[in-house]
Amino acid sequence: MALAGRWAGGIGRLWIVFLAFVIGWQSAVHSVAGTEIIPLGAIFDKDSREIQGAFLYALNEHNQNVSGRHFHLHAYVDIISTADAFKISRLVCSQFSRPVYAMVGYVQPDSFDTLHSYANTFQMPFVTPWFPENVPNPSSGLMDYATSMRPEYHQAIIDLIHHYRWDHIIYLYDSHDGLLRLQEIFQSIKPSRADFKIQVVHRVVSTHDALRFLRTLETTNRWSNKYVVLDCGTEMAKNLIIGHVRDIHMGRRNYHYLLSGLVMDERWEEEVKEFGAVNITGFRIVNLYSPYVKSFISTWSSLNPEVYTGAGTSYISAQSALIYDAVRVVGETLARLQRKMAEAFDGTSELKTPRRITCDFNQAEQSIWEHGEKITRILRKVEIEGLTGNISFTDKGKRKNYSLDVVEMSYNSETITIGKWSDSTGFELLPVKYTRLPQDEVPLNKTYIVTSILEKPFLMRRTNGNYTGNDRYEGYAKDLCDFIGGYLSINYTLKEVADNTYGALDPNKEGGWNGMVGELVRKDADIAIAPLTITSSRERVIDFTKPFMTLGISIMIKKPVKQKPGIFSFMSPLSEEIWMCVVCAYVGVSIVLFLVSRFSPYEWKVKESFSKPSLTNDFSMCNSLWFTLAAFMQQGVDLCPRSVSGRIVGSVWWFFTLILVSSYTANLAAFLTVERMVTPIKSADDLARQTDVEYGTRDGGSSKEFFQRSKVSVYSRMWEFMSSRPHVFTSTYEEGIERVRNSKGKYAFLLESVKNDYINEQLPCNTMKIGQDLNSNGYGVATPLGSPLKERLNLAILSLKENGDLARIKNKWWYDKTECDKEKKETRTNALTLSNVAGIFYIMTGGLVLSMFVALVEFCYKSKMDASKAKLSLSTAMKAKAKLSIAGTQELDNGRLNNQLYTPSNQILDGDIIQSNTHTQV
Ligand code: GLU
Repeated sequence: MALAGRWAGGIGRLWIVFLAFVIGWQSAVHSVAGTEIIPLGAIFDKDSREIQGAFLYALNEHNQNVSGRHFHLHAYVDIISTADAFKISRLVCSQFSRPVYAMVGYVQPDSFDTLHSYANTFQMPFVTPWFPENVPNPSSGLMDYATSMRPEYHQAIIDLIHHYRWDHIIYLYDSHDGLLRLQEIFQSIKPSRADFKIQVVHRVVSTHDALRFLRTLETTNRWSNKYVVLDCGTEMAKNLIIGHVRDIHMGRRNYHYLLSGLVMDERWEEEVKEFGAVNITGFRIVNLYSPYVKSFISTWSSLNPEVYTGAGTSYISAQSALIYDAVRVVGETLARLQRKMAEAFDGTSELKTPRRITCDFNQAEQSIWEHGEKITRILRKVEIEGLTGNISFTDKGKRKNYSLDVVEMSYNSETITIGKWSDSTGFELLPVKYTRLPQDEVPLNKTYIVTSILEKPFLMRRTNGNYTGNDRYEGYAKDLCDFIGGYLSINYTLKEVADNTYGALDPNKEGGWNGMVGELVRKDADIAIAPLTITSSRERVIDFTKPFMTLGISIMIKKPVKQKPGIFSFMSPLSEEIWMCVVCAYVGVSIVLFLVSRFSPYEWKVKESFSKPSLTNDFSMCNSLWFTLAAFMQQGVDLCPRSVSGRIVGSVWWFFTLILVSSYTANLAAFLTVERMVTPIKSADDLARQTDVEYGTRDGGSSKEFFQRSKVSVYSRMWEFMSSRPHVFTSTYEEGIERVRNSKGKYAFLLESVKNDYINEQLPCNTMKIGQDLNSNGYGVATPLGSPLKERLNLAILSLKENGDLARIKNKWWYDKTECDKEKKETRTNALTLSNVAGIFYIMTGGLVLSMFVALVEFCYKSKMDASKAKLSLSTAMKAKAKLSIAGTQELDNGRLNNQLYTPSNQILDGDIIQSNTHTQV
């Protein structure tokens, strides 16, 4: 019961009584009366874990399903890791000596010969998934006790080469067996096809090596067709083809791989088809559509792969299927044996306690398994249905009445079964279902079924009037149908798609697609004329014409409520920074005015009073601020600078205020009258960054698929958001649009721009498109793959585009039917920015600097004049003037300046002062 392991010498020899099936066996022994145990030998190569998984499952299944049988199989399993003949023979002998009734197993070709000869010598029935090539037959008249579950299918490879009319092949193989297979293929083809040649034969040691070899071929002859027969395991085949399609220097469409191993039973097209791969043909031995396989797969896929290696998937590899069938064949053989020789199992017969076989060659008469021949004969008569189809054998132990599926994986389609190959009828093409048809003549007398979808303004039911036939509909798509029908001179019947969907992958539907795409795939319709987006996944299963309309995914939101101007909206015409700068400019100008007036002597005047006359200056700090403010407000005051410098300050300030106030006034009108809209979301980025506003797409369409597949971080984040809240998806566009309208700005809908544009022009005009389109796509007219209509439809679309018909019907259904008031279109007014008015600030600053310079000149000039009049030095005069400027006023004594610098006889008063003096003496 316990798991026991023993490693002897170089042989990894593990006696495993599999815990799992032993448990199953125990319970069965106790629950089913009279159940016997039949020992079975099993030998596996250590690298065949998947095969072991399938073997274990088959055995377990056999022991649990005891109806009609009275025995359980009990397996002794050896796992070997060597091809050493001596060690293998010891191993085999110890298996035989248990004794076992039959042996099942899989070993490498190097070990097979030893095992095979022991089986034949000791007449031990041995069933294996497959034989290596060139297994020596036992001498004539003798029975071969080994049975291979794999059918012979060299002829299938040859038939396919004939089918494709290849006159040459490139043969790549990775084992000695591969070379032997080539020999057989060549010998079979050559006599009937003198022109046939094997262009190159190359043994590949690794994927890297194979790719390097193909690249060399490519450089010698880039453009020729290359038919590669690839004889290697699944892993290498996959890696080679993936490496090929990723290599930008290698051709694709001129390559056709024929995978000669049974490697297509595993699912691997996912990895390959992603790259728009080369043509690949191969064989499948497990027919996934047979009810027997379907029920097996449903259990197999639910098994724990840690217990049954390779299980837990919806497929089974060819090797695993073959070993599974091997166990079933052995089980069935022993059941038949039991029925035939009931007495042999009743506890007294020899069969129940068989004689031990010893590998002692000296006792020749004892060294055979006494029932081996009988069991082998019964085994060859077994006829059951297994995973690999019908299982029956010829007298020589070869499979007969079997068939293989021939599958193709072309650059634009899924893996499809194109034919069947059977040993009795050879290769037969299946009637074309989902494959390309030859581009032949378009039958004109036929009425074509055009599928479409009710989507405004593409297709709508006419509500007024009693219409029949195609006239029941109107819209862009209907007009397009009419144009196309006329161009191709064909009749058509317009039909609404049954499930109201565009087309998405749906494994529950025949053909794997739903919506219009599914109808085309299943050939329920001949053409789809609808807003059907061209996508790569669809292009694989249907044909599209060139696009008749271009669009992108866009965002629709509810129009925000317009904002009334606020009480401080009079501030809006100028930006905040301008307001700040204006305040600074105002203070600065006032200070400069004050300073220049101080320094400029022309700003000083004599003020007569009853006591004494004094020198005064009008531009005190307070008056300067007042003067500047009055000018800014466009008002006048009775102060006015009289010096040149003061006037320069005044002039630049007036200029500054002139421009600023006019700009302000011009902008103010717009600001007070326009009601502005503030949208919370402006782009996809904004949407992705928040969770408050939900967003979603239509189900079953290309927009959803776009987000699902997108690798752009913003869009994949959006997909995460959407997929975690399935309620954001809608089943129709109308549902999404209604949700936008009713959800008070808390839902944004992602839809195609043409529909967005249309809806925004429709009542109640409360939706709008925001931001740029997220991608760029086209709508195409679609047909089933290979439809003879495709080329003509293409021409029709191009000529309708060129002659302007498409533009005309677009205008008709979009812009001529607008229901929203165009004048209301928003014209947004922006506040002036500092850069708009920076120039006036520069002019004003320049003026202020100039004024200060002029004030200095005036000061110096006047000091010089006074110095020469009073016969004083220039510096003394300047000091006196500076003192005067700083002091503000100076009292005059009887009309004379009371200052040490000015004597009573001095004629210091200039004309200005006398004049002003005269003024003030009124
Ligand atoms: N036109 C899209 C399609 O062909 C359907 C609408 C959508 O997904 O936004 O799938």
